[in-house]
Amino acid sequence: MADQIYRVNMSTLTFTVEEVPTAWMGLGGRGLTSTIVAAEVDPECHPLGPNNKLVFAPGLLSGTAAANSGRNSCGAKSPLTGGIKESNVGGTSAGIMAKLGVKALIIEGQPTEGKFYHLHVSKEKVEIVEAPELVGKDNYEVLDAMLEKYDKKVAVMSIGRPGEMRMLLSNISVKDPKGKLRSHGRGGMGAVMGSKGIKCITVDAESYKETTLADPEKFKEASKVFTQALKDNPISGEGLPAFGTNVLVNIINEAGGLPTRNFREGQFEFAENICGETMAENIKARGGDTTHGCHAGCVIQCSQTYNDKEGNYLTSGFEYEMIWAYGANLGIKDLDVIAKIDALMDDLGVDAIETGNTLAMAVDAGILAYGDGAKAYELIANDIAKGTFLGRILGGGVGNFAKLYGMVRVPVVKNQSIPAYDPRAIKGQGVTYATSTMGADHTAGYAVATNILNSGGHIDPLTKEGQVALARNLQIATAAVDSTGMCIFVAFPALDDPKCLPALIDMINARFGVSLTGDDVVNLGKNILKLERAFNQRAGLTSADDRLPEFMKYEALPPHNALWDFTNEEIDAFWDF
Ligand code: SF4
Repeated sequence: MADQIYRVNMSTLTFTVEEVPTAWMGLGGRGLTSTIVAAEVDPECHPLGPNNKLVFAPGLLSGTAAANSGRNSCGAKSPLTGGIKESNVGGTSAGIMAKLGVKALIIEGQPTEGKFYHLHVSKEKVEIVEAPELVGKDNYEVLDAMLEKYDKKVAVMSIGRPGEMRMLLSNISVKDPKGKLRSHGRGGMGAVMGSKGIKCITVDAESYKETTLADPEKFKEASKVFTQALKDNPISGEGLPAFGTNVLVNIINEAGGLPTRNFREGQFEFAENICGETMAENIKARGGDTTHGCHAGCVIQCSQTYNDKEGNYLTSGFEYEMIWAYGANLGIKDLDVIAKIDALMDDLGVDAIETGNTLAMAVDAGILAYGDGAKAYELIANDIAKGTFLGRILGGGVGNFAKLYGMVRVPVVKNQSIPAYDPRAIKGQGVTYATSTMGADHTAGYAVATNILNSGGHIDPLTKEGQVALARNLQIATAAVDSTGMCIFVAFPALDDPKCLPALIDMINARFGVSLTGDDVVNLGKNILKLERAFNQRAGLTSADDRLPEFMKYEALPPHNALWDFTNEEIDAFWDF
């Protein structure tokens, strides 16, 4: 059975299973979600209204044995940025959807206000069942209820209370192979799912078939070369498996680009307390697990299980962005306190970057003090989770909080908060933040690779020369890679190992029986960026939205005393392709 499009209408509570239009056949992941959103969503619609659509699409290689190919893309018009959004995630949903033949799941319409439903997707069928018993529950309780009901391998995507309340920092959580949670983290996708009245989506793992390959031998050969390239690279083969993404704390701190105390400094004096090396020591001493994959088939395994001092499970998927947001940027120097907050946020389903940065703004507003982990926990557990008046204000994210409190220092681009690399000290990353169609997004074009990690050569992070071209090339490549289902960390070998990208293209060719070239893949990336930008323009965004916060132009960042010094013309030249 060929792949199909599953379409659910939440206004009529009906579904259809459709043939894949020819124009969508060669697309997957971000390429497909962005194409569908651009084709079917009115860019001027209210993102939380009936005319927005929520689209899930596994990558082109998801469901195959290709290493690191289990990312699922989720797209919609973002209620946070007002533009197009694609947020991808590990976990088990991509592989199961792909094996079931679900090319994309499109959710449209809106049910009666206040009702929440559970969607169960199985072969050629979607059950849409009202689920009042799940309302007011958070992700782990929903997950437990689904695991009681279905085979243990079932894929589960859910929202917690913040998603039900349509908070802009809410995300969509996805079950991983160990029964823990991963997130479609950014852009308020949880609010869109909440606005559709959907509490959880399950995807049947019993009736799926192994993915078919046009040329199994060729696929196997290419897959072997690709896997070896991931293992041979010092970052994907050694640094990430040993210390997780948190290996970056010491590296970015050393470079003076670790945003500290709400983007006031580039170094955190307690970096040693929260760094990857300390985390790895704790994990070993306490009986955790330093390496595990967020989906089956990951050979890098940057994830981990983190236990408390007594050896009891605390959290997993404990990432650099989370540890930075609550560590350096909110001043908490105790890794265990940050881990407890991480576990709470997983359960509630809120974006670590948006939530952490909003709490840093709350420090400036006098609501809590830097380093006060107990108060940070309380604000999330008692205010955001319960939707108190203050919780609703925090739940609107950094940009909305700043407006309500009359604040001038607002670290956002297109209203999405800036991640863990200060753009004044890592300028290539700043160009990505400014120009990404997604708002400030480190994964859209990871210039840290070449500015700091010397992957794909080296460009001085403090100079402007070469940064626009670097961010452009990386964003084009990333848009294409996001369509394959691959995780961002394949970028390191892809930049440095001449065998890596050709092997990736060979796998796509062998999977579908096509003959794509490197140029085809580059053109795919360019087309995705252009159609996303066109959607944003039709939604009302202009080049004035491709700008970093004004305060970064006049507030120098220690220790390099770096400023954001690009002209508007230099930034706008990004789109010259
Ligand atoms: S390297 Fe990390 S993010 Fe990528 S697939 Fe593996 S565990 Fe997930």
